[in-house]
Amino acid sequence: MKLCFATNNAHKIEEIRALVDDYHQILSLQDVGCNEELAEEQDTLEGNSNHKAAYVFKNCNTACFADDTGLEVTVLNNAPGVYSAYYAGNQRSAVENMNLLLKNLEGNEERRAQFRTVITLITPELTKQFEGIVKGIIIKEKRGVAGFGYDPIFLPDGFSRTLAEMTMEEKNKISHRSRAVKKLIDFLNQLSR
Ligand code: IMP
Repeated sequence: MKLCFATNNAHKIEEIRALVDDYHQILSLQDVGCNEELAEEQDTLEGNSNHKAAYVFKNCNTACFADDTGLEVTVLNNAPGVYSAYYAGNQRSAVENMNLLLKNLEGNEERRAQFRTVITLITPELTKQFEGIVKGIIIKEKRGVAGFGYDPIFLPDGFSRTLAEMTMEEKNKISHRSRAVKKLIDFLNQLSR
């Protein structure tokens, strides 16, 4: 089955190609002739991932899936959530986003948070969503240089190192995205049997 991954992130495409069985051929947006920037204007992760997948399904005439991720901080009513990429402004600076989050949590000892990824799969037969979550806390100072986004201030439950102090392999074993991707792949691999 040919499936487009509606993302402009080549790394995410390579990652999933390595995981699906031979029955599934993962195509990029370029492969299906979709060269437009996909809008992320909905106010939920479910809405954004569904919107991106639905756009590609309709306009590029291909079965596809799309993802969206947010950092949800309990005491901030799950902010920054769907707005995680540009919490501190449209410049989408990871450092400024982290600084703003640390400022908004200043003096607060309640620091529980989770990363949540939602993937939407759309084929001619079905629409299905898959969720992946990693829970943890927001620490008070940045630690580590690996990864991206909010990794230096996120300490996953059961670990003494932040996501930015882990190797990519270690992060991939526990991350929100890998958990959602695993659910998608299990489903796709079942479809092929
Ligand atoms: P996206 O939906 O994968 O583009 O993620 C949206 C935003 O969430 C990113 O710009 C980051 O700020 C944040 N984010 C997503 N995944 C991660 C992660 O694995 N570590 C840290 N931040 C992340």
